[in-house]
Amino acid sequence: MGSPVAADRGSIPTRTFLLATIWHRRKETLGSQISASIAMGRGMSIYSPSSTRYDKMRYQHCGFSGLQLSALSLGLWHNFGGVGPIEKQKELIFTAFDQGITHFDLANNYGPPPGSAEENFGTILKDELKSHRNELVISSKAGYLMWDGPYGRGGSRKYLLSSLDESLQRMQLDYVDIFYSHRFDPNTPLEETMGALDSAVRQGKALYVGISSYSAKKTREAAAILKELGTPCIIHQPSYSMLNRWIEGGTIDAISEAGMGCIVFSPLAQGLLSNKYLNGVPQDSRAGKKTPSFRDDFINENTLDKIRGLDQIAQERGQSLAQMALAWCLRDERITTALIGASSSQQIIENVAALDNTEFSSDELSRIDTLATDSGINIWADSSESG
Ligand code: NDP
Repeated sequence: MGSPVAADRGSIPTRTFLLATIWHRRKETLGSQISASIAMGRGMSIYSPSSTRYDKMRYQHCGFSGLQLSALSLGLWHNFGGVGPIEKQKELIFTAFDQGITHFDLANNYGPPPGSAEENFGTILKDELKSHRNELVISSKAGYLMWDGPYGRGGSRKYLLSSLDESLQRMQLDYVDIFYSHRFDPNTPLEETMGALDSAVRQGKALYVGISSYSAKKTREAAAILKELGTPCIIHQPSYSMLNRWIEGGTIDAISEAGMGCIVFSPLAQGLLSNKYLNGVPQDSRAGKKTPSFRDDFINENTLDKIRGLDQIAQERGQSLAQMALAWCLRDERITTALIGASSSQQIIENVAALDNTEFSSDELSRIDTLATDSGINIWADSSESG
């Protein structure tokens, strides 16, 4: 359809009137667009990090490396995929950064759907955190199922390096700070998996490399191979909490002897180590949402008894159970950082406040030991038990 001006070839006064009307309307539209963008500019708060963000957080060298990590790190496994609003995800990331958390942990398959956590993180980073890229330590991993066929899982060079390329594309990054082998693959020579990590660094796509859920034996072997290649393995990421103490069976010794740092994941046992499940299962909790990683049998009377006992000790210390659970993980100086998840900003703030009290008396530690026993929640044991 032509413009009203072209359509009306009538008298000059009519055309002048029409042109004037159109101009007037355009001015109105333009005017309202400008006012809208000014209003948006006023209403839309462009994120500006807290100027005190480095004041309360502690930073520790990751093993023998020069890289320091915040005592708490934030993981994007749950609550950052395509299922929730990105505004909420922004809020969690900004809260964490404001609290001094500099390390954000991702993996190729975090979602759902797989990849969506990296995509959303990339968008947030590009839109509002880009100028702070050099203040952030961003990690990703490959190892679990990511795409169909023989090259979409495991520890092959083919999978690891193509997955890293895809992660970088999703996050719109040139490099990640840490790239991990997400799990040990008994069907791939360890030399090949470690060789792929070494290549990632040499290609400039990762600054450092690490391994996750490897046994003590495979940790030592992996460290030796990478050392030989000239790319030290600086970090191990195992599960660890008061209800899952498998690394105390030798892996933490192997990690420390190899000069690696240790980032423990699920330090709250996916939220079990809080008081939220003491009176039933809240609908909006991880258990209530029926996520596959949180099996129904995790909550049972035996475990709840332990949690009640631990909650009592936490109260006596003037902490919430979640805070005590984090402080307890960090009691061992070989543990560089506790890698938490969060479904609200409040949880992040509460968890960072755990750092206000990380000292334990020997009496507290022995009381905790009687309750803090393995509770059948280590769903990642396949990796450490297959090597
Ligand atoms: P946590 O054990 O810290 O569990 C986090 C969950 O606990 C939150 O989502 C929230 O659940 C609840 N929570 C957190 N803070 C509090 C609080 N103060 N009070 C009450 N409830 C709280 O860690 P995740 O299991 O989430 O794992 C953390 C990260 O570790 C992952 O994001 C990922 O980066 C990494 N990871 C690595 C793995 C690997 O194989 N390498 C495997 C698994 C995790 P709710 O929704 O119920 O509120």
